[in-house]
Amino acid sequence: LAASGCGKQETVKVGIEQNFRPFTYTENGDKKGFEVDLWQAIAKKADIKYELVPMEHGELIKSVKSGAVDLAIAGMTVSNARKNNFEYSSPYFQTGLVVLTSTDNGVIKSKEDLAQKVVATKNGSTAFNYAGEIQGAKIRSYSNVADVYNELKNNTVDAAIFDERNAHDFLQDKAQGQVKMVGEMFNKERYAVVGKKRNKYIGKVNKGIEAVSKDGTYETMYTKWFGA
Ligand code: GLN
Repeated sequence: LAASGCGKQETVKVGIEQNFRPFTYTENGDKKGFEVDLWQAIAKKADIKYELVPMEHGELIKSVKSGAVDLAIAGMTVSNARKNNFEYSSPYFQTGLVVLTSTDNGVIKSKEDLAQKVVATKNGSTAFNYAGEIQGAKIRSYSNVADVYNELKNNTVDAAIFDERNAHDFLQDKAQGQVKMVGEMFNKERYAVVGKKRNKYIGKVNKGIEAVSKDGTYETMYTKWFGA
């Protein structure tokens, strides 16, 4: 048999996140989320055979860089800082960052009130980069966003900064009225599928994204996960 595999299709390793609701997460061993559904549809259109590999965000970034996974779909923001190592697909989601604080905090009303405050966020995320630029803020960062939210609930930090949709999910699901969102969404961000520089899959992925946008699949999935 030729090295090309004689028609045997290779399996593309696609990294997802363990805990980035409602985009990708695992629940009782099941892989779920808007991006899991979206990826399945993209891969079908693009004729990509794949295997999903769940891990934490930091590990995911390393794995894409090293080639341990071929691609990742996990709320990855298109950022200039990562462009040296990564190649992005066309973006499929528009979002941004938000500030969260305790419901009874009357001092923090927006991101402008975070100087000298203790701010929790996720290691290596775009929110982490943003937080690092706030004058005098003390940053506490965690590899799992569940720990960021626990700090907020326990009132051991003043505020947190993270991706808007994930924060929104937490407020609805687990915050139990103890945490609120303050101010406007900021730092416009777009999510895209990511792979190593010069990887051979992004072209196919882009065709898949275009196809699911055109035939209404994207819209149906968006409505299912985010409402009308
Ligand atoms: N959008 C953020 C980033 O790309 C966070 C992603 C995540 O935690 N999965 O850094």
